[in-house]
Amino acid sequence: MPESESPTQPNIKTIGIIGAGQMGGGIAHVCALAGYNVVLSDVSEEVAKATVETIGHYMDRQIGRGTIDEADKAAALARLSVGSGMEIFADADVVIEAASENEELKREILKALCPVLKPETIICSNTSSISITRLASTTDRPEKFMGMHFMNPVPLMQLVELIRGIATDPETFDTIKTLTGSLGKTVSTAEDFPAFIVNRILLPMINEAVYTLYEGVGSVSSIDIAMRLGANHPMGPLELADFIGLDTCLAVMHVLYEGLADTKYRPCPLLVKYVEAGWIGKKSGRGFYDYSGDVPVPTR
Ligand code: NAD
Repeated sequence: MPESESPTQPNIKTIGIIGAGQMGGGIAHVCALAGYNVVLSDVSEEVAKATVETIGHYMDRQIGRGTIDEADKAAALARLSVGSGMEIFADADVVIEAASENEELKREILKALCPVLKPETIICSNTSSISITRLASTTDRPEKFMGMHFMNPVPLMQLVELIRGIATDPETFDTIKTLTGSLGKTVSTAEDFPAFIVNRILLPMINEAVYTLYEGVGSVSSIDIAMRLGANHPMGPLELADFIGLDTCLAVMHVLYEGLADTKYRPCPLLVKYVEAGWIGKKSGRGFYDYSGDVPVPTR
């Protein structure tokens, strides 16, 4: 939304975002451009500051494409503030948790967050797979808690999956649905089952691609070319896995495997090994591709 227009969700002025990684940064980017004040945190202020610099670079690309102008960028960056700790969220109307995909960590964050919030503040989690109902139960406001699952990269991807926990009240859902629309995104509503809709379907396909590699059916490039040109996917599944982060992919497969108790969701041992090696994809410089040069090079 251009800077001159005001947000279409009048109850929400300030959005807090916990976790300034690839998702938290992307969410901060679209919220700030849509006219909301954004408070972004990570384990240290330095991490969050670095993310704001990255957001600035991505906005430059948007300026290059003519989708925003310099004034939109300046206004959006002026609406963005960073920090660490929970006190910075005291004035937030909505807080979106986008920290690493680890249930224990998310529970700790939510427990520390609640005491500083206003009673009416809504909390959303951007989790890819963890039960919204279980996360809600660690808060003091399960009726004001729900899943708001953005897709990566947030500024480019149209969809946001909205997930109600068992206790989410209709007002909370409607407020977040309107907020999502005001960000220029389209909603798909999912029930609270492991990995919801997109990742319930997508991650087993990625896991199967890793099995295909593990069993020697094809090389990294054969598998990715096969799915790009044979199934008309815009990215190959291994490229996509690197882009999502292999740690996140593995975490989602664990949630599916444990949550649905079906062996068809068993994480591929090769995926486990890559994560154990720290080869977690583009964000670490190496996954199924090596990103140290100008062009990604397949590792197998
Ligand atoms: P990431 O590794 O890029 O970022 C996670 C960030 O959380 C890191 O910067 C980390 O320092 C920070 N963090 C860890 N502990 C924290 C704490 N206590 N307080 C504040 N920040 C903390 O991961 P990501 O890809 O941005 O994923 C974040 C969330 O979004 C996960 O729940 C993931 O499942 C979900 N998600 C990811 C994708 C994807 O494609 N990567 C898509 C949709 C949703």
